[in-house]
Amino acid sequence: MSQSIAAADAVPPHAEHFDVLIVGAGISGIGGAYHLTRQCPDKRFVIVEAQASFGGTWLTHKYPGIRSDSDLYTFGYRFKPWTSAPIATAAEILTYLAEVIDENQLGRHIRYQHQICSAKWSTSENRWTLDGTRTDTGEQVRFTANFLWMCQGYYRHAQGYTPDWPEMDTFKGQIVHPQSWPEDLDYAGKRVVVIGSGATAATLIPAIAADCSHVTMLQRSPTYFFTGRNANALADELRELEIDETWIHEIVRRKILHDQAVFTARTFSEPEVVKKELLEGVRAYLGPDYDVDTHFTPRYRPWRQRLAFIPNGDLFQSVRAGHASVVTDEIEHFTETGILLKSGTLLEADIIVTATGFNLSVLGDIEFTIDGAPLAFADTVTYRGMMFTGVPNMVWVFGYFRASWTLRADLVADFVCRLLNHLTDKGWQRVVPALRPEDEDMPLLPWIDAEDFNPGYVMRGMHLLPKRGHKLEWQHTQDYWRDRDILPGIDLADGTLVYG
Ligand SMILES: Cc1cc2nc3c(=O)[nH]c(=O)nc-3n(C[C@H](O)[C@H](O)[C@H](O)COP(=O)(O)OP(=O)(O)OC[C@H]3O[C@@H](n4cnc5c(N)ncnc54)[C@H](O)[C@@H]3O)c2cc1C
Repeated sequence: MSQSIAAADAVPPHAEHFDVLIVGAGISGIGGAYHLTRQCPDKRFVIVEAQASFGGTWLTHKYPGIRSDSDLYTFGYRFKPWTSAPIATAAEILTYLAEVIDENQLGRHIRYQHQICSAKWSTSENRWTLDGTRTDTGEQVRFTANFLWMCQGYYRHAQGYTPDWPEMDTFKGQIVHPQSWPEDLDYAGKRVVVIGSGATAATLIPAIAADCSHVTMLQRSPTYFFTGRNANALADELRELEIDETWIHEIVRRKILHDQAVFTARTFSEPEVVKKELLEGVRAYLGPDYDVDTHFTPRYRPWRQRLAFIPNGDLFQSVRAGHASVVTDEIEHFTETGILLKSGTLLEADIIVTATGFNLSVLGDIEFTIDGAPLAFADTVTYRGMMFTGVPNMVWVFGYFRASWTLRADLVADFVCRLLNHLTDKGWQRVVPALRPEDEDMPLLPWIDAEDFNPGYVMRGMHLLPKRGHKLEWQHTQDYWRDRDILPGIDLADGTLVYG
């Protein structure tokens, strides 16, 4: 019996081979595929996606009001103009992505409902073997690929992060995480408590507040928001002048990126002034009597956590209208009817929404081995936030905290295509980052500097992430403006990349 199991295990499922295998059909994977078709037209590639459709983040999240928190002129690709209001709903983003897929015939390259579980690199074969499961049939699938392009994002799509608060199971109402929002959730006339103060809470609350009996945003500490019209005056003016949309896209991107660079620099050079301006924006909506100090004045410097844009101040309008309120306190424990706070107040609720963030997933929860040895990414050093020491023929797309993710997806795609063409031109089959002799003594630091940026999911998962060094080659700078200048001109023969 054990012999027949061993024999069955030993039979590999039929393996399909590709030059490049992209994991994930979200913004990064679809963008990567587009760039491959343009810059490496001879490469055979496949996109492998666990879910039943494309979109990643914008497919997974279905809570009311789901929208981008950055503008689509920069969150859209550089190659496809965005022609609507800057802040977009998930549905609009999915339509945009569908157009990119259709216009470039990318659909035939995507395998949906294929979850990759393991990735094994063999140096003798110079290729990856990827094993996975079809999520619809349970069938085992196997691919081999010369190059692996990891576009799997940064968090576990199957389940959001919910802290383990005392006595949660005593609550008789419903507890919901926005990442798995039940489509039939009936919140009309209900008392809803939303735990969290980030972009998700800020988006969700105005979308449901008018229908609920009341919504309370319960936060341990406040977050910075900036507000304004969901419109771009320059784009509107250029449209009035009947300028071509391709031009509008490029001009408006440049303008936004210029303004963002100035703003980001000011958060370092004059944080108090920026703080005052942000809080004035909030006060303008809430009126002079509202306690902005307690509920909307964070303890950190602006931009140390992601700054969410609140179009038309809709969150603050819900508060002003009395549909929503903010409580800044800590949870003592859950009760049958709600949440008892450390202050002694009991928040009664029918539904509790835990807008408490993500579970970091380093490289799609895939088990990696290199020549049979298990790979712990935390033992590697990152090469410019894209590759890892000792891991051949693999690139990971990790965007920016302070700028739109897609800006980096486009830049990384250019790098991958250039690298693939370089390998082909030189007749090499393998490229792996390696510390040079002059890097050997470099102190190794955590993936990001917590003093610079410290979102909860990264802090919780930092021990799983690769290390960085103090030299630019060995870190993800989180600086789009610097990457824009440096990445296209990287010297592929500077000794940090070893070929074979
Ligand atoms: C609610 C929300 C709003 C956001 N708003 C913005 C914003 O406005 N601006 C911004 O810059 N960023 C925003 N972000 C960050 C956002 O996640 C990224 O900008 C971007 O959508 C990430 O795209 P991606 O393709 O890299 O990854 P994802 O969107 O995470 O897609 C990854 C895909 O890979 C698939 N996958 C993962 N592992 C495997 C596996 N093992 N096998 C097969 N498939 C796998 C997943 O199913 C998923 O479809 C937001 C995030 C959230 C959650």
